[in-house]
Amino acid sequence: MVAAHCRTKIVATLGPASSDAETIRDLARAGADVFRFNFSHGTHDDHAARHRIVRQVEKEIGRPLGILADVQGPKLRVGRFADGRVILETGSKFRLDLDDAPGDITRVNLPHHEIISVAQPGSILLLDDGKLKLCVTAIGKDFLETEVVVGGPLSNHKGVNVPDLVLPIPALTQKDRDDLDFALNMGVDFVALSFVQRPEDVIEARTLTNGRAWIVAKLEKPQAMDNLEEILEVTDAVMVARGDLGVELPPETVPLAQKRITRLARKLGKPVIVATQMLESMITAPTPTRAEASDVATAVFDGADAVMLSAESAAGKYPREAVAIMNRIVERVEADSGWQAMMKAGRLEPEHYVADAIAGAAEHIAGTLGASAIVAYTHAGPTALRVARERPFSPILGVTPTEITARRLTLVWGVQAFVADPSRPVQNTETMVSTAIDVARQSGRTQPGDTIVITAGMPFGVSGSTNTLRVARLPEA
Ligand code: PGA
Ligand code: MN
Repeated sequence: MVAAHCRTKIVATLGPASSDAETIRDLARAGADVFRFNFSHGTHDDHAARHRIVRQVEKEIGRPLGILADVQGPKLRVGRFADGRVILETGSKFRLDLDDAPGDITRVNLPHHEIISVAQPGSILLLDDGKLKLCVTAIGKDFLETEVVVGGPLSNHKGVNVPDLVLPIPALTQKDRDDLDFALNMGVDFVALSFVQRPEDVIEARTLTNGRAWIVAKLEKPQAMDNLEEILEVTDAVMVARGDLGVELPPETVPLAQKRITRLARKLGKPVIVATQMLESMITAPTPTRAEASDVATAVFDGADAVMLSAESAAGKYPREAVAIMNRIVERVEADSGWQAMMKAGRLEPEHYVADAIAGAAEHIAGTLGASAIVAYTHAGPTALRVARERPFSPILGVTPTEITARRLTLVWGVQAFVADPSRPVQNTETMVSTAIDVARQSGRTQPGDTIVITAGMPFGVSGSTNTLRVARLPEA
């Protein structure tokens, strides 16, 4: 049994630098809890091979590993240029149109009539991750006339961001639907939706996932920030996708967006992942910058559920080192008394229903008694999520009847999940206590004679029935 020691979880993206069994095993051992498959890159065969390896490694190391399928979403792009690229001069005119003929210095194809239909004079288009900026001056039936506000080189298929427009396009393209279908059939634990703008985008995806995976809404559009509460209400989890968010919003607003999203997600008890550029320099260097180490620490201090690596683990030179250092930063922060005080200060009032009152009381009692673990019986995960929402100092041991729930809990702050032995069903208080004691021992977090706090529901095995709180002592050696 390899114990995951950190409360804050680590999501590591797999890619060309990290798709063989040896590397994936090393990343899990170094502290990765969830592996992200980026469907913007690679083939279905690539993802299927990674999936097989992660499930194999999970068996070997004896703790659940999560798999997150991240679908590309409506990423907008320009078409091709006759010479592959042009250099746009600041102050010049440039036309974007629906004609798929190769472009030149005066025009290029923009194969998205939705942008043309909602653009206004004065609308801003950002190209190539915001490096170039165009301002719309006139609109035709099938073209936009623009002025180049910030020029520079522009090459084939570069991305287009339109921060100030709500586009009448579905959040899921045909490619996304095919990718989702593939990922869900393969058996992933989470699907991440890119460029979510409205709660309806999440609701639409839910008709496809149909409970087979938790939905992670990626917050990377200003429109999503305007609809944040509504999106959080309907999603299972969120990602602060700082890459695209920092193109669509000025960089100085990204830290505030991160704080606001984290605070609100914690209030609702929904997992929140802080993502992108956390250890960016480690794509090419074996150690992070001090500022990057501080960035990871900030997310841990904010009480985020997870921190994420993208290119650092997927395509960089040092995937193992990136996970190992991220893990060390998390461990170091969580060992600090200042962090403990912050978790305590940021604790949220339980909501006024039974399971939440039990979760709040479990945290309180565990703190008072110095309990070495809170064992939370949870069917589909909500009880463990509510205990995690309290950000208790004691580790949370989630006991669930299904592997599916155990894998989903890999994304949840502080929770180490165990699948209950189906041959020993929990049927009464006695088996509830004895199973909890077994799990506590297995977790490697407790010593003989320690106190544990148990939350459960009677009747056992029924979702949403949490109503019981029990204190138990592990037998002396
Ligand atoms: P991406 O999403 O890596 O899929 O673009 C994350 C982000 O934009 O930060
Ligand atoms: Mn993105």
